[in-house]
Amino acid sequence: MLPPSFAAALRGALAAVSPVSCAGCGAPDLELCGGCRRLLRPQPVETVHGGLRVVTALRYEFEVREAVLAYKQRGRLRLAAELGPALRAALDVVLPPDAVPAALVAVPPSPSGRRRRGWDPVTVLARAAGAPASAGVLVVRPGRSSSQKRLDREQRARAREGSLRCRVDLTGRRVVVLDDVLTTGSTVQEARRALEEAGAEVVAAVCLAATPGGREVTRRRLPGYGGAKA
Ligand SMILES: [Zn+2]
Repeated sequence: MLPPSFAAALRGALAAVSPVSCAGCGAPDLELCGGCRRLLRPQPVETVHGGLRVVTALRYEFEVREAVLAYKQRGRLRLAAELGPALRAALDVVLPPDAVPAALVAVPPSPSGRRRRGWDPVTVLARAAGAPASAGVLVVRPGRSSSQKRLDREQRARAREGSLRCRVDLTGRRVVVLDDVLTTGSTVQEARRALEEAGAEVVAAVCLAATPGGREVTRRRLPGYGGAKA
């Protein structure tokens, strides 16, 4: 045991070297505080996007959004262990133990995102969820991934169309698409298009989190996940 004063000094020195604060709310000296950890408890919601079943685990807002951004954009990879169980819960809705198995295919990062980060948030997250996804099955066609942030829903869908390519023959294979954040749904739709073109039967898409509201979908709270605030 270190003397308390020395331990405190050591913690202070370490904090100065690699300061850490809660990825959700910014509280000091913690990777994730108890309150934010509770907000990451999965609340799977099932929606239908253009005929595709989509299950998401979290609402992409406030502290949850901050935690996802800290993981994806600020390289706080240890958060994969905190976020993984939520993805797992959504996946379990689509593929319960008695379901016919399906291959998991991750939506690929944009080439600029891959260059910037050097790692792939969706496949790392899937691994943390105990659901290894095939990376490299879907690839972004060269020159087809501009930033979509300023585009509206329709423009996004158009920009996305044809942007992904499947490199594997998936004839007769059941596939579940995995992604991190669902916004307009155009990305999972493009993934479905590319996978179906390769012969796959796309049974559903599973995303960690969804931006709240504004989608032309039917929402359904899934049984077994309580009635707490969504
Ligand atoms: Zn917090």
